Amino acid sequence: MSPELLTVIFFIYVPVQCRYKLKLVVNMMKLSDVTDKLGLYIDPLSGQKHLRTTCRHLSGSLLHGFSVGEYVTHPTYLSMQIDHHCHIHLEPEFLQYLNHSCDPNIYVDVNRHEFICLRDIEANEEITFFYPSTEWAMEQVFDCGCRSANCLGKIKGAMHLNKEVLPRYKFTPHIMEKLHGHLSEQRPVNEPHTN
Ligand SMILES: [Zn+2]
Repeated sequence: MSPELLTVIFFIYVPVQCRYKLKLVVNMMKLSDVTDKLGLYIDPLSGQKHLRTTCRHLSGSLLHGFSVGEYVTHPTYLSMQIDHHCHIHLEPEFLQYLNHSCDPNIYVDVNRHEFICLRDIEANEEITFFYPSTEWAMEQVFDCGCRSANCLGKIKGAMHLNKEVLPRYKFTPHIMEKLHGHLSEQRPVNEPHTN
């Protein structure tokens, strides 16, 4: 069978969404195993590195722990905020390749220093978390390319989120405190106070 004929059959019989997913899987190149459950991959088209599961993880289970590589006085594009005025670089270092998604599959427990699965995660899924769940104001605002149905577009940090989207996400305690304060400040002037 000629390659041309195979291409025609592929485009007629494989639905668009399936072809899209196939392309995503084929494109990713594994660089190394960073643990027995996680691999470091690269997208050859964008050059972006990311972490993928190498086996199934159950909702609520520990994906990986972290410790403080170093404290940074000012947030950077690599740092993570773990308290009101506390920004760190993560240890082990490969955790810097945890990318953002508006439809994340893990969250950060800053008290226990753990990344926890938000849902069941299949093998070969990219691991992502919601950056505004830890960051009040992003050092580097960026246009999200997560392609999720509810993608928020420009990611600027928790202080810029609309209150309608807040129930979708699990935030760290320092962000929850800030959000409560922020929302009460935004209360309309004619709304009665309830003390
Ligand atoms: Zn997004």
